[in-house]
Amino acid sequence: MEIVFATGNKNKLKEVNEIAEGSNVTFILPPPSFSPSETGKTFEENSYIKAFEAAKLSGAMSLADDSGLCVETLNGAPGLYSARYAETQELRIQKLLKELDGITNRNAYFICAMTLTAPDGKIIHQTTGYCRGKIAFTPAGNNGFGYDPIFVPDSYKITLAQFSDAEKNKLSHRGNALREMLAYITASF
Ligand code: IMP
Repeated sequence: MEIVFATGNKNKLKEVNEIAEGSNVTFILPPPSFSPSETGKTFEENSYIKAFEAAKLSGAMSLADDSGLCVETLNGAPGLYSARYAETQELRIQKLLKELDGITNRNAYFICAMTLTAPDGKIIHQTTGYCRGKIAFTPAGNNGFGYDPIFVPDSYKITLAQFSDAEKNKLSHRGNALREMLAYITASF
């Protein structure tokens, strides 16, 4: 079955389809006019805003995610503002490392909220996935995106940017939220 995934980002579409491999679900892009305003106050709210916008535009059930990095000692920052914490990803990483300069508590987690919505705006199902770990002292690795070069998942000694895509999907917040959502979808439709 095909489900609209509320993103304009083809790399994200590829990632969710890789995670969904082996299920009977394939994700497709929403119409090109998809351009939601992420004005929510929580990850769940933002994922709903995106899913509803895509469902309205496409007239079909749609799934959206919203994710970010939360650092314990910074009271959850950058959190909802992960994508806007500084102008470029390199600057975002530099800013975060500077904030944590001299701080030994490096605990952090990635969170991903997912909402499946009908075209009339009804929420069909929501899931939340986590990936817990620590912020590294220096960046390492070239794979992935965002804060991957400075995030070391619990039980590992390498950053997410040193994992292959397939290995990252097995333990990522997005992988965890999507596997739970796919279990619901395959059981319900
Ligand atoms: P979005 O929910 O895809 O818009 O992600 C928001 C921001 O959170 C991204 O721009 C990244 O900075 C950060 N982020 C979310 N997921 C990841 C990830 O898997 N690795 C690294 N950074 C991530």
